[in-house]
Amino acid sequence: MEETASLVELRQIVADAKREGKKVGFVPTMGALHEGHISLIRAATNDCQFIVTSIFVNPTQFSPDEDLDKYPRPKEQDLKACSDAGVDLVYLPTPASVYPEGYATYVDVEGISQLWEGKHRPTHFRGVTTVVTKLFNSVLPDVAYFGQKDYQQQLVIRRMVADLDMPVEIKTCPTIREPDGLAMSSRNQYLSDTERQTALALQRALQHANEQLTSGNRDLNAIQAEMTSILQHDDSVAIDYAVVVDPDTLQLLKKPQAKMVALIAARVGSTRLIDNMIIEITSI
Ligand code: AMP
Repeated sequence: MEETASLVELRQIVADAKREGKKVGFVPTMGALHEGHISLIRAATNDCQFIVTSIFVNPTQFSPDEDLDKYPRPKEQDLKACSDAGVDLVYLPTPASVYPEGYATYVDVEGISQLWEGKHRPTHFRGVTTVVTKLFNSVLPDVAYFGQKDYQQQLVIRRMVADLDMPVEIKTCPTIREPDGLAMSSRNQYLSDTERQTALALQRALQHANEQLTSGNRDLNAIQAEMTSILQHDDSVAIDYAVVVDPDTLQLLKKPQAKMVALIAARVGSTRLIDNMIIEITSI
């Protein structure tokens, strides 16, 4: 496995792989890699012959009051995990190289970026779409892999790729969970043991919505209220949103439909967690 912080070197190495006829798969990450990230790398190794992973804690997707400085950066551990998972090249750019003095260009996906996560983190998606655009322009991948864990993020990226005619295929991979159901996240390591238990309420609330809808409950208002009350069972949980929405537009629904997605964002203590579940019903 090779690693580089240099854009010039990255481009050379990827160009060499392409010249050999290899399909290039790309997994962008912020590091502190866990099985969720590794599952994306595995998906890439199934489809592609040359795998690039980027590790970059992107400052533009954090607001000033968020955890940019304390975000975990276990570089050696991450490099080993990449190597073990079959990554060919790790790209580790620095903030100063991605956003040099005078940097002024941002990519903004309207509409869908302003909902849910966008309401609570108003500059977040603009930072994500900007860095992903730059990374796509740097790596020039054939396929890029994102997690369903960040459901809205992958939708925003799909919108951007379609709107801007970016020549890359987007694949979304299932959420990887701990054995007890907690969605894996680099931020889980901020949780105390007690908070870690409390955090299971997110998964419980999603499962409740799924059970209710699949067993024929059509009262979305009641179901969303129950999700809220499951989350609020512990007073260390502060909910940003707990809703059932259309899987493509993320708009609230008046009534259940064949395919829906339940979205939750909540703080447990000072750690903000998100999770979601796609819910499909047959009788509507
Ligand atoms: P991050 O390092 O948090 O920016 O995440 C990098 C990529 O890994 C994103 O596409 C995430 O959606 C994905 N990811 C994060 N956690 C998980 C998980 N538990 N399961 C699957 N994918 C994940």
